[in-house]
Amino acid sequence: MKVIIIGASISGLHTATLLARQDMDVEVYDRMNALDGPSRTLIVTGKISEVLDPVPKAMVLNQVKYLELFSRSRSARLELRYPDLVVERRRVVEMFVRMAEESGVKLILGHRFEGFAQFGRKVVVTLRNLETSEAKQISTDILVGADGVHSAVSQAASRDGHAVAALAQARVALPESGEKDTYRVWFDTSRTKYFYWLIPESDRVAAVGLIADDAPQAQGRLSGFLQERELEAIEFQSAIVPIHHFGSANATLDPNRNVFVVGDAAAQVKVTTVGGVVPGLYGAKALAQAILNGRNYRKELGGLKMELNLHLLVRHVLNRFSDRDYDELIGMLDGELKEILQEWTRDELTQSFLRMIWAQPRLIALGARVFMKSIL
Ligand SMILES: Cc1cc2nc3c(=O)[nH]c(=O)nc-3n(C[C@H](O)[C@H](O)[C@H](O)COP(=O)(O)OP(=O)(O)OC[C@H]3O[C@@H](n4cnc5c(N)ncnc54)[C@H](O)[C@@H]3O)c2cc1C
Repeated sequence: MKVIIIGASISGLHTATLLARQDMDVEVYDRMNALDGPSRTLIVTGKISEVLDPVPKAMVLNQVKYLELFSRSRSARLELRYPDLVVERRRVVEMFVRMAEESGVKLILGHRFEGFAQFGRKVVVTLRNLETSEAKQISTDILVGADGVHSAVSQAASRDGHAVAALAQARVALPESGEKDTYRVWFDTSRTKYFYWLIPESDRVAAVGLIADDAPQAQGRLSGFLQERELEAIEFQSAIVPIHHFGSANATLDPNRNVFVVGDAAAQVKVTTVGGVVPGLYGAKALAQAILNGRNYRKELGGLKMELNLHLLVRHVLNRFSDRDYDELIGMLDGELKEILQEWTRDELTQSFLRMIWAQPRLIALGARVFMKSIL
């Protein structure tokens, strides 16, 4: 069976590797000429080791054992049972390319996806060679769009685009007050309904960033934050990220069930933190299992869908938080609630959510009060 995947980044390459290891004939196309795309410092939870076992050492820049949270007048420090990993996107993609090629995947660069048409059970994919400008058509059994937030595969199936947020971060010298093993997060609702962060890459360099509604807002607020803290940018990184919504769980694009999307193209992103790497890898695993076993992708995505929907509900409440609400929340982070947050990762909200409520019932009162305030 032949599979064509559009997008040679994390989600597409992982899907390709899993399929090629089971003797599928897999071709991956990307419009880039070389896979050295934009550099990006990423932080992922230890949960990644469930998908990539073992996690190759070459892709890890740093391990972070502590998480410090700051609101206007409170702070909390958590000691994570499973350290977060700080990775660099280019290194990660290089490693996925190696694994894909070793599994027999054919990687074809410099080709842009332009459309597809269905003929019976076959899908005919149109690709343009960006060097010669020639278009070619290739017939396949399955087409996968792993082509990111503005997925052309999704658009070719007449799907509306996703809601988006803008992410901006700068690499800076690690401030004197910073520690190599500590990830910091600041909540400041007058500037962003999400948060600011400082992620140490090493004992010398860190990434400082924020999420905002659009790119000008994200860049302006990041500059203000850098100025206030007298931090000088070595490099800026920014991009648009998709926001998962309840409908985006439907990642099968056609009734014949042979055109799919995965990763950012399917908005497989946790909207509490806008982290897409681990969800995209879980999406890839679900898709590969669906294709290999002739099962329904939507059903295979069940666990991930529940996880992402719960993040979405929590995000809806957090979006209405004031600085005082964050003070109250951070003030609650001790005892059993703190232990739960230290024990479970951000990619395991379905396992930790009820435990947190049980440990600290005031969370319900806080959530309900914020919700009522927003509708009154
Ligand atoms: C600055 C920044 C920081 C981030 N930090 C984190 C973090 O700390 N933790 C975390 O988990 N997530 C983070 N994210 C999100 C994370 O990077 C993404 O969710 C993840 O990389 C998505 O991977 P993907 O493979 O689905 O898509 P992408 O990486 O977007 O890859 C899409 C690929 O498709 C190709 N393509 C697109 N259109 C076409 C076409 N028409 N034809 C052919 N090829 C095409 C592109 O060239 C690209 O290679 C961050 C994002 C940004 C922007």
